[in-house]
Amino acid sequence: MRIVRYQIKDEAPKFGWLHDDKIGGIDGDLFGAYKRMEAKTPLADVKLMVPSWPTKIVCVGRNYVEHAKELGNDVPKIPLIFLKPPSSIINPGETILLPPQSKQVEHEAELVVVIGKRARNVTAEEAKNYIFGYTVGNDVTARDLQKTDGQWTRAKGFDTFCPFGPWIDTDFNIADALITCKVNGQPRQMASTRDMVFSVPTLVAYISSVMTLEPGDIIFTGTPAGVGELKSGDEVVVEIEGLGVLKNPVKAEK
Ligand code: ZN
Repeated sequence: MRIVRYQIKDEAPKFGWLHDDKIGGIDGDLFGAYKRMEAKTPLADVKLMVPSWPTKIVCVGRNYVEHAKELGNDVPKIPLIFLKPPSSIINPGETILLPPQSKQVEHEAELVVVIGKRARNVTAEEAKNYIFGYTVGNDVTARDLQKTDGQWTRAKGFDTFCPFGPWIDTDFNIADALITCKVNGQPRQMASTRDMVFSVPTLVAYISSVMTLEPGDIIFTGTPAGVGELKSGDEVVVEIEGLGVLKNPVKAEK
């Protein structure tokens, strides 16, 4: 099932489920007991919002061998994790703003895990019971500041640096999913989730040994090789085959 969060005109955003190109409401708690209402609102009549509003955004660095190599890094022996602030979130279709502090902002196409149940100290074997579904994300990064700062909070944390969506797929098979990124139609990144160093269950287990994961929290699982620069006027499109397409325009911040 595909879960969307959507807005009609000025109404408050709400959760729904997608059936072909129609949306039905979700009545109740998305992560608990709910009822699906009839799907009759055309997708074209709504604004799609990020499909989750997380308490935290946990990201994994260097989780693809070829990407670690392209930036001159070794693959870590244990998962390398960092956080992006929820204030960096933007909706599908909204504009990524290039901040004046950076001269090198780059795209990072990633598979994103959405947590469905509070998780603390779960094992990799149990992890699937805590995963609600998957979505598509772009871990936008100021590469120059990442190199100079050491800590990545600034490089990864600017407003607009966390687009994800357009929906959560609760049944998606991540075993061999093709991740691509195109900028202005030109291919930049292409790899399979099969190439991850640490698997999704391993990541959920590892992160839950550090911090309690809450329903709606999201995990960016790392980017494959081919990261590259975004310029004002670009359109960046991240696609995970069979899951969804995430498009965002890019503009220099005034
Ligand atoms: Zn990343």
